[in-house]
Amino acid sequence: MSPAATSYSDDHARERPRVLLVDDDEVTLMIVGAALRERGFDVHEAASGKAALAALSDGLPDVVVLDAVMPETDGFDTCRTLRTIPGCENVPVLMLTGLNDEVSITRAYEAGSTDFFVKSQQWTQQWSLLDGRLRYLLRASRTRQELERSKSKLARAQDLARMGSFDWRLKSGLMLSPEALRVFGLGQGDPLSLRALLRMVPREDRRVLVRMLRGAIEHGSVLTTDVPVTPSWYSGDHVVHIEAEPEFNEQGQMVGYTGVVQDVTDRRVAEDKIRHLANFDALTGLPNRRQLLWRAERALEMARRVGHQCALLLIDLDRFKIINDTLGHQSGDELLVEVARRLRGCVRHSDQVLEAVFEGHGMGVRSHRSLEAVGRLGGDEFVALLPEVIDERDAERVAQRMLEVMREPIVVASQECFVTVSVGVALYPRDGSNVADLMRNSDVAMYSAKAQGRNASALYGPQLAGRGREKLELETALHKAIERNELVLHYQPKIDVRSARMVGAEALMRWQRGGVLVPPADFIPLAEETGLITPLSEWALSEAARQARVWQQSFGFADSIAVNLPSRLFERSDLVDHIHQVVTAQGVPHRVIMLEITEDNLMKDLQNVIPALHRLNEIGVEIAIDDFGTGYSSLSYLTTLPISELKIDRSFVRDLGISPQSSAVVTAIIALARSLGLRVIAEGVETLRQMEVLHRLGVVTMQGYLFSKPVPPTDLELWLDQSVQSRSASWIGQATELEAAPDRLHAASHRS
Ligand code: C2E
Ligand code: CA
Ligand code: CA
Repeated sequence: MSPAATSYSDDHARERPRVLLVDDDEVTLMIVGAALRERGFDVHEAASGKAALAALSDGLPDVVVLDAVMPETDGFDTCRTLRTIPGCENVPVLMLTGLNDEVSITRAYEAGSTDFFVKSQQWTQQWSLLDGRLRYLLRASRTRQELERSKSKLARAQDLARMGSFDWRLKSGLMLSPEALRVFGLGQGDPLSLRALLRMVPREDRRVLVRMLRGAIEHGSVLTTDVPVTPSWYSGDHVVHIEAEPEFNEQGQMVGYTGVVQDVTDRRVAEDKIRHLANFDALTGLPNRRQLLWRAERALEMARRVGHQCALLLIDLDRFKIINDTLGHQSGDELLVEVARRLRGCVRHSDQVLEAVFEGHGMGVRSHRSLEAVGRLGGDEFVALLPEVIDERDAERVAQRMLEVMREPIVVASQECFVTVSVGVALYPRDGSNVADLMRNSDVAMYSAKAQGRNASALYGPQLAGRGREKLELETALHKAIERNELVLHYQPKIDVRSARMVGAEALMRWQRGGVLVPPADFIPLAEETGLITPLSEWALSEAARQARVWQQSFGFADSIAVNLPSRLFERSDLVDHIHQVVTAQGVPHRVIMLEITEDNLMKDLQNVIPALHRLNEIGVEIAIDDFGTGYSSLSYLTTLPISELKIDRSFVRDLGISPQSSAVVTAIIALARSLGLRVIAEGVETLRQMEVLHRLGVVTMQGYLFSKPVPPTDLELWLDQSVQSRSASWIGQATELEAAPDRLHAASHRS
């Protein structure tokens, strides 16, 4: 009898399930073998356990049919041995038994068989039964293999994402997946305990972490945090993101945590880079305007809470233009650097470490005094923020010191220069209740110092004021604007520069007041102050929905209209209902409305806004973060928010090709967006150059005057009617050239 030692590898056989049939009875082998072949199996026969095991070395079958009772090595022994052969652990084995008793069935399972089949007297007639059983085994085995494969795919994906999972049980301690071990720079064999892991966390952070862990365990709450990790054998600092959920037993007692860890160092580096570039002046290294305004906001918040006074000093160099013009820009820059250095020395906290402020989310931990700063507003203008002063004399003393430190000549281009400054001082709350007012009033005071002969400081006073009535009038008129239908929405298209097509539009509000079109900057802030923003925004939402329906009907418009909303609208529990109502009233899908929320606004009340974001996301309303890059978001939050789009702030676009930092910011934002799976759009694109640079950096969706200003709805129709493509703007050729899409170039450059 020839043992079935033929190879399984031929291609034809592969299409059919391969069966290794093992029986010592030649007749059975023949009959069963023929029956299975007839039913589409590729059968290989073995007349003994030994022969079967030998056959395995020629290739694995998909299933083994094994007679239980055989001389020498019986089916049970054969199966047991088979299971020890590498690769055979999971091959399905069907044990044929003539003994329909519990004992042999149990033995079959114990020996590692997958299933059994009873050889009855007429079993030779039960082919379809055997066939069905084998096919079932094969299906189950395939499913298992697929699961196995996707499991290893998941592990690989996790490894790529530098992510791994862990389990922590109150009873048995910590278990990390191999991928999770790698996140901590550990190998399989390394000793592991929660204690050992904690030791990798720097001491100060460890205390905070332990407190947080204790709190979470005590309350059985979800744990999400970023932890710095510095194991001694690692180079540099790593940041590991931890997310874990508690698990409970039937009695509702917490038994442990299950979660994931991810190495987010790269993301952190990108975030830090964005922050730094966006917040510091490249020339002097001082905080820039943005950073200063942010600090001032925080300082006012604190002062409001605690009840003390703050001061804002606006410092302007006298006659800097003359110096700049006579000595040249290079020397002008050197001079500014030196002025910056001296001014900085005039405030108590001369170290202006950004992180000190950012990371102290709990402002309570670090003193608000760390907000103290001298920053550069731009050109030759500087600002000093004094987060706490006793009275105006306190602030004036600092101003005097600034005048004094300028007495020493500054040497640039081997020339001694004498520089003086004029300083204007405004105090919170006396001279203004918000940063904008304080800035304006310190500016007024600074001009009065200049007017009085320069090289001096001046305090703001009501005698310098002149506004107030205007504002009241405006408020009254705005109240009436809604009733009188004086508000209109203009639309600015969002363009995909590769196809030169509109892919959506942003609604921007205007106020038709008498014969003039009032821009939003002149009434939105006031509306926000007075609460009128709510009816205004509600109007904008329903107007946008109505417009979408009109365009849908006439042009098959299927994109979305982005409506700008301040955070206070997101706080309202009825925002989602309201949107639902306005879109259903117009019979358009929810996704026609997209919402833009500015980064600052979002971060200001993140906790209140998050639930609304999730609900909006559920009904299909997408969210974009406006003015992105200017805020001070803890960017790691972005990972958890259901947002779709980041809108790169106009200021970065404006400086593209001018200041190298701006392209660095854009690059960093794009990298961040990619890693978070978000779309990116650039706003304020005015020149071909900007468009080109953006495109090269990887931005394809843009908005800006280059393509179109915000226009009344009827003017947008040219864009809506994309079959006409009646645009002949210079950028179109450019954009399509970049994409090398000659067909669209041709269509787009022929004006109708
Ligand atoms: P935003 O949301 O950042 O809107 C973009 C602003 O940039 C618009 O100014 C737009 O006209 C302008 N813009 C667009 N392209 C360019 C460009 O290429 N160059 C320049 N220099 N500017 C460009 P607009 O319409 O005056 O709106 C100003 C701000 O007012 C908006 O900033 C938004 O924050 C707010 N706003 C506008 N409409 C609404 C509204 O319906 N509700 C609320 N809450 N705020 C609105
Ligand atoms: Ca916007
Ligand atoms: Ca914007």
